Amino acid sequence: GLMLILYIYQGLQLNENIKQTGYSILNSLITDTRHSLQKGERNTFQGVLDKISTLEDIKDVSLYTPNKLMTYKANEITVGFPFLKVDDKLVNPNEDLYIQSNGAYIRNDWSFRGHSMGNHSELVENFDALKNIESKKCSKCHFTIKENLKFDEDRFAHIIEKDRSYFYYNIPVERNCISCHTHWKVGKSAGYLSISMDNVKVTTQSDNRLQYFFMILVVVIISFLVIGYFIKQLNKKLETTQIKLEDQANHDSMTGLYNRRSFYHISKKILLLAQRNFENIHIIMLDIDNFKSINDTYGHNIGDKVIIALANQLSNSTRKSDIAVRWGGEEFLILLPKTDEKGALSKAEEIRSSIAKLEVENVRFTVSIGVAALDYTEDAMIDDAIKKADYALYEAKNSGKNRVCTYI
Ligand code: GH3
Ligand code: MG
Ligand code: MG
Repeated sequence: GLMLILYIYQGLQLNENIKQTGYSILNSLITDTRHSLQKGERNTFQGVLDKISTLEDIKDVSLYTPNKLMTYKANEITVGFPFLKVDDKLVNPNEDLYIQSNGAYIRNDWSFRGHSMGNHSELVENFDALKNIESKKCSKCHFTIKENLKFDEDRFAHIIEKDRSYFYYNIPVERNCISCHTHWKVGKSAGYLSISMDNVKVTTQSDNRLQYFFMILVVVIISFLVIGYFIKQLNKKLETTQIKLEDQANHDSMTGLYNRRSFYHISKKILLLAQRNFENIHIIMLDIDNFKSINDTYGHNIGDKVIIALANQLSNSTRKSDIAVRWGGEEFLILLPKTDEKGALSKAEEIRSSIAKLEVENVRFTVSIGVAALDYTEDAMIDDAIKKADYALYEAKNSGKNRVCTYI
């Protein structure tokens, strides 16, 4: 929509450009003619025509008087004194004859009274001969002013056609005209000045401007798109960084399991959902047996590897929906949603036996496990369940380690 409006606006601007160019040339033609007249130059109009005709924009320049005797037209043979364009200058082929005859040269088809040109008198004797020429409607020699021309109060008029534009000035008869043209009257029309112009020149310039304008528009739009793209990418990066950071905050860096803080956050939602659906939840508490002696015998480095291996084993042997947490140093907690006592015990036993089979750098180890159910009737159900599991774990340790106990 915006583009369309701009295009229409540019179209209007184009016509305005043509108008301005045309009128500025016509105005300079008028001014030059005035100056020449003031200097008393007789061949005023030819001089001005010569100058104007060399302008590239102008197709032709013409002057035609009310009696249609004097019609000057660039680049064409005219009635009166014909001008031809030779080497881009207007020349008058009759000039030599005119000078030789001391201004008495007359054409065959019309005549002056005596040395009329010298006396600045243009009265025509052989008017019939003139009418004869006119009746032939020689389009090359005679200008016809376009019909429907509307002159404004400054005596200007113009027509802009598709390819060509015409500009007219209706010359007023002034006092100084009458000194030569004795039969004219002040205020009447002394004739018309006209120029015509190829629109293509002006249009091409404007078209270039239009293209230039659209180019800038496209560049601006692309810039915005590129900037937008980068902002989007940046946002994505920020988002992933944020997610990573959050992930880091929620997980234990050594094992990748959930940490204690995030466990409380996650378990809250799981418990509420389970409570609503009357589902069983069990908790497993797990502690490595005699871990101190592993550290002491093999070193802390091996101890760390044991913890990591155990964590991997927990992740592998639990469901995705189970929540495995590194509860403390070598202590782990697993929340088992949708699991009854039987399921929880067998899961605990499965974990215990699988860990007993693990070997980390030739080191074997065992775990003790406490299992407890979540009781919805308790107020602080999660903390109570953890306490119970802890108690069961204590039982497992006390009764010889490497075993599973449950809270009764
Ligand atoms: P028990 O069978 O009764 O659990 O005996 P234990 O030796 O495991 O006793 P306890 O739970 O008191 O000892 C835990 C030890 O684990 C204490 C601590 O130095 C060690 N530990 C805790 N976290 C880490 C860890 O991240 N890496 C290593 N290498 N050792 C840890
Ligand atoms: Mg411990
Ligand atoms: Mg221990």
